[in-house]
Amino acid sequence: MDKEGYLTIKDLMNFHYCKRLIYFENVLKIRQATTIKEFKGREVHSIFSKKSKRNKIIKEFPKLQKDYNKSLCSKELNFRTVLDCLMIDKEKNEAFPLEYKNTKKPAKIYWTLKIQMFAESLLIREVLGCVVPYAFIKFKQSNELVKIQINKNCLKAVKETIKGIDKIIKTELLPTPTKFEKRCKDCCYWKICQRI
Ligand code: SF4
Repeated sequence: MDKEGYLTIKDLMNFHYCKRLIYFENVLKIRQATTIKEFKGREVHSIFSKKSKRNKIIKEFPKLQKDYNKSLCSKELNFRTVLDCLMIDKEKNEAFPLEYKNTKKPAKIYWTLKIQMFAESLLIREVLGCVVPYAFIKFKQSNELVKIQINKNCLKAVKETIKGIDKIIKTELLPTPTKFEKRCKDCCYWKICQRI
């Protein structure tokens, strides 16, 4: 949660990485330390944000209106985020979130990244009233653009995730550890968790 109590993309990604992250951060209020990898990612992200204002480095879809660093907030969902780029087709009342990653395209798009794109799509629909048929991820290092289809089930998955997070916070019950033990290797909560 952010300082004003809104859920963010980070909470959604944490929930799908390991539900205990939600418990440690939002129930016990132990802040998640930033790993070096994340810090570098954020640095590059911020460079992208500054550059994008000047240079509009997203070259794809030249006919669509583009809003960079677009803030969206829904009180109803208790959720907010800032999109790297929102592309809008006003004639069709369609909109498309575009996320920028300073990495190569992975062999597989992980669920944690997909849920981010689904969540951005849900916010666009709820706040701006646009139809969101697709979301896009631009991988800078391999210069590839991935298109993700958005349907009702994707949006439902986001609402269920938000409900799941709320439940952990309200019940204050320690969730079971992630079934993927190798995720614990880099986890900042390992010392207090230890999967017990
Ligand atoms: S150590 Fe493993 S089980 Fe515990 S919070 Fe971290 S990822 Fe989850």
